[in-house]
Amino acid sequence: MTKTFISPSKYVQGRNEIVNLGKYVEEFGKKAIIIGTSLDLDRTKETIEEALEKQGIKYEFKAFDSICSRENLINFSKKIGETDVLIGIGGGKGIDFAKGVSFYSKLPLIIVPTIASTDGPCSSIVALYNEFMEFEGYLKLLSNPNLVLVDIDLISKAPTRFLVAGIGDALSTYFEALAYESQNKNCLHISMGIAKLCYETIKENALEAIKELENKDIGKAFESIVEANILLSCLGFENTGLSLAHSINNHLPVFPETNKFMHGEKVAFGLIVQLALEESIYFDQVYGLCKELNLPVNFEELGVINISKDKLKNFCEILVEDTQVKNTFPRITVENLFLVLDKL
Ligand SMILES: [Zn+2]
Repeated sequence: MTKTFISPSKYVQGRNEIVNLGKYVEEFGKKAIIIGTSLDLDRTKETIEEALEKQGIKYEFKAFDSICSRENLINFSKKIGETDVLIGIGGGKGIDFAKGVSFYSKLPLIIVPTIASTDGPCSSIVALYNEFMEFEGYLKLLSNPNLVLVDIDLISKAPTRFLVAGIGDALSTYFEALAYESQNKNCLHISMGIAKLCYETIKENALEAIKELENKDIGKAFESIVEANILLSCLGFENTGLSLAHSINNHLPVFPETNKFMHGEKVAFGLIVQLALEESIYFDQVYGLCKELNLPVNFEELGVINISKDKLKNFCEILVEDTQVKNTFPRITVENLFLVLDKL
């Protein structure tokens, strides 16, 4: 049985850590190209310039405001020019784009997340979309980013909702890992251990972290949640697997009302469904935590009201046929899923 473990080459997390960006860039060379959306670049430009200039690093900003499609990534990569390293800064979209450019240009990559709303910064996959903004699939990179630099102070400037969504995404990691491992049995101890630690870290720190953020008094709980959302969740899911919670998120566009919700919010709902279907002993604990965090736990809280029985049944049929669900969740049927969804 082949068992593997992947991760970024280096992960650095600290208060005001971005001031050291120049030193980290120096490990790759003397020139950097910084990629992000115009909004993210505008927000961080001054700090980055200062950090790079004091280390004598040459740099160039390249904004990207389009769709993260294969075609856009290839075109952008062809015109990237001479550099020793790429820096991807921002939230999900900017970071994914920088990861894709590093793949096509074969350049090393530093990621600087500005929010902790998903586990994307550390991962080796990029979500690709077509020109209509429809999800096309994943681009699998040859490796994870060379360095993920997490500045706690930068992340603490983002609205609370982003952190909470990140908790929703990270909350599912352990339970999807358990579902995956129960069928595939190819996870290393370290991978399952990290997935479990991710859940325990959230359980112990989530509510306190939100308090710290809202009181502008950042401390250990907030730092622990940032680590859980960005690092533990990624290492957990990439080295185990995803299951029903993420499949539900992937198919929720069937209900367009849910499009305005963030990835982690929809995954939290998916997790509630998964745990209910499993009759998990963790159901009450996770449900209670989601309620306290204001994460959606039913269709109504995702803005979907008065679903017809036919539409709900159709959603169940799509899910039961989903490959990820089939490979990790053999007990699922249209009937038992319908019963759970109808009751929530
Ligand atoms: Zn996710």
